[in-house]
Amino acid sequence: MTYDCVITGSGPAGLAAAFRLLEKKPNARILLLESARISSGGLRNDCKMNFTFPIGFPLEYWDEKTASAYLGDIESFLGPKILDQQNIGVYEKRAERIGVKLLKIRQAHLGTDGGIVLIKKLVGELTEKQVEFAFGETLVSADTGAHRAVTSKREVSYGSLIVAPGRSGCDFLRSFMAATGIPYTDNSIDVGLRVETTLERYPIVRDYYDPKFLFPDKTRTFCTNSGSAHVVQEKYTTLNGSVYYSVNGHAYSENSAPNGLVNFALLRTVSFTEPIASGQDYAEMLASMAMLAGGGHPIMQRIGDFRLGQRTTRGGLNGDLYDFEPTLGSATPGDIALAMPSKFLESIWQSLKKLDTIVPGVLHPSTIMYYPEIKLYANKPVFLSDSFMAAEDLYLVGDGAGTSRGITGAWASGMRAADGILRRQGRP
Ligand SMILES: Cc1cc2nc3c(=O)[nH]c(=O)nc-3n(C[C@H](O)[C@H](O)[C@H](O)COP(=O)(O)OP(=O)(O)OC[C@H]3O[C@@H](n4cnc5c(N)ncnc54)[C@H](O)[C@@H]3O)c2cc1C
Repeated sequence: MTYDCVITGSGPAGLAAAFRLLEKKPNARILLLESARISSGGLRNDCKMNFTFPIGFPLEYWDEKTASAYLGDIESFLGPKILDQQNIGVYEKRAERIGVKLLKIRQAHLGTDGGIVLIKKLVGELTEKQVEFAFGETLVSADTGAHRAVTSKREVSYGSLIVAPGRSGCDFLRSFMAATGIPYTDNSIDVGLRVETTLERYPIVRDYYDPKFLFPDKTRTFCTNSGSAHVVQEKYTTLNGSVYYSVNGHAYSENSAPNGLVNFALLRTVSFTEPIASGQDYAEMLASMAMLAGGGHPIMQRIGDFRLGQRTTRGGLNGDLYDFEPTLGSATPGDIALAMPSKFLESIWQSLKKLDTIVPGVLHPSTIMYYPEIKLYANKPVFLSDSFMAAEDLYLVGDGAGTSRGITGAWASGMRAADGILRRQGRP
């Protein structure tokens, strides 16, 4: 069977590539491979979308003009309801005084339930346009010379191949690039923790859904959730087969009953030079260390205990500081300092203290920190073109390939790859 384009991954990058190709070439024969049984990409999680550069756009691949043009297209296509931001001047001034920047970002929030509705709509529209969805089918390898792709079920020929396996596909992408001879670097990681507290102690979210603070030392707040907000864990398997969990957060839409809690990540980016060859290996080692200290689960620690240099215990969670139940109850009460290197812990703690100056109350003793939250954006292919072509007619995009860090960035990178394909076919 021959397809004009085989797309791997039904996340925002893969879906966007399909829409863009069909917009300019309505009869294109497209196969969309998705290893999960349903469309399971990241639109399914919280689905807050950022419409301001540079949020979600790695600066090594994007400039403001290019990204903003794509953001305009995405906004017209998805028609999101942009959230209001009010009363943030006071926070901005406080931040400025202590060397912190509060970025003003245009945002929309669908929530996890709203994201599922959107996915169904998008998959339905593409199916109507004759895109062939192959759920439960995984891309295994490709012969770029012969333009043939091998999946878990068959072998197909393609005109172009777009691979967008997301963050959970980092390991797959690494082996895939090694097998197809695509050089890549893998030298930066984001490591941090997730903070959970009550709405009263982080009231800024009433005025700004996902406030983006930039602290010194490449540390930043990331992915704030409120309303009906939950901390969750994601399962990963390292290359040598051990399992670890990274925490994350999401919230349901405004139609869901609020639980009065807020969670957000504080992440620090570190870029390695020699002799560390692989940021991903390093991150996996850190995660394994956290699993060791947490008995196979992420660790949670109350701020009050952390300040005193002592671990949190299950009993302590039921003491007089107990004024909200941790939403990730399976996390192990413990001591984060046992597992997190001081390079990360120091800058994150300094940033938290600054944040408490800007939004007083966030460092209440009952606030919980969960560790680890690790973002693997580590595979950076050496691209042959600015539309993310990494080998003849093979495009690597989305969070897994490091061309994006979020839904809108992933969507834009899928469109940009599709534009590259169309240009090669003489369709500007
Ligand atoms: C809990 C959580 C909350 C998040 N909240 C937000 C948010 O609010 N806002 C935001 O901007 N970002 C958020 N993100 C990040 C966002 O999900 C990603 O930035 C985005 O989904 C990346 O899109 P992508 O298309 O690159 O990959 P993904 O959306 O991850 O999609 C990749 C798809 O490829 C499939 N796949 C992988 N390997 C293969 C293979 N070999 N063959 C076939 N299929 C394969 C996977 O099953 C997956 O469905 C969140 C992530 C998580 C985990």
